[in-house]
Amino acid sequence: MNKLMIGLLSLTLLVSLNGCAEKSDSAGSSEPAAANEIAQKPQPAPQQPPQPTKSNKPAKPAQPVQPNGPNKQTQVQKQYYMNKNYFFKPINSAAPKKAVLLTFDDGPKEKPLLESILGTLDKHKAKAIFFVNGYRVKEHPELLKLIHDRKQTIGNHSWDHIDLKKQSAQKVKQQLTDVQTIVKKVTGTSPAFFRPPFGSGGDTVRKTSAQLGMLYMTWSNGSEDWLGKNKNKPDQVIATVMKQLNPGSNILMHELPWTAEALDELLTLLESKGYTFIDPAAIDPHRTS
Ligand SMILES: [Zn+2]
Repeated sequence: MNKLMIGLLSLTLLVSLNGCAEKSDSAGSSEPAAANEIAQKPQPAPQQPPQPTKSNKPAKPAQPVQPNGPNKQTQVQKQYYMNKNYFFKPINSAAPKKAVLLTFDDGPKEKPLLESILGTLDKHKAKAIFFVNGYRVKEHPELLKLIHDRKQTIGNHSWDHIDLKKQSAQKVKQQLTDVQTIVKKVTGTSPAFFRPPFGSGGDTVRKTSAQLGMLYMTWSNGSEDWLGKNKNKPDQVIATVMKQLNPGSNILMHELPWTAEALDELLTLLESKGYTFIDPAAIDPHRTS
């Protein structure tokens, strides 16, 4: 058998490997209260593993440089759509079914905490959506810029983190529009994703979100990192996510110290179960089935 044949056989084997049987969609957990302010000092950002020493071969040509400027994002192929239960499904066979979306709500808060999360995401080559509140962006525009510069995705989580279901249509519009405006001003790009605080939306909020060009989502896997009983308990956050894990899970987490502390182990565990992390840019916002 020649090398070409062996090569072709290996390729066929690789292609035929597939994910496990899909479990039925499960409902999300209860609505989170606004996560409390940080009460403890966040962990320092994990160090990137050192680069292995290169041989004396000439360096490989570098990856195309990502433009840093606004509105110059590289086009990512759409691979997933979100169903009505906020699970992500592959559009084509090239997209792994065992994949999850990572999300972090209620920031941006503090630089060390944010850098810890960003560092862990980088370590695992993972992308996430950071659903931010406008009033926090106003306090820390530089942290929003940091999320954007680190190639992570920013989502709209309303200006004041209020229960939008109880607000007038005019107030809802203002809460969403003002976040679009400030994020665009700081990063050059308006959010394409919206998540209502407490998962509390309704028709007006959905309609307003769509009018502003955003995909509306709550979640399908709540880490419960916002619950008082899980405060300072990273192991509990990991256990809760793993208990609800399904292909396509939309995982709700928050910018909290114990979540940042849990993240490396959580992502390692997810990878060991064969899961990959969905790039938000690969979500087709216009497709629902
Ligand atoms: Zn929130």
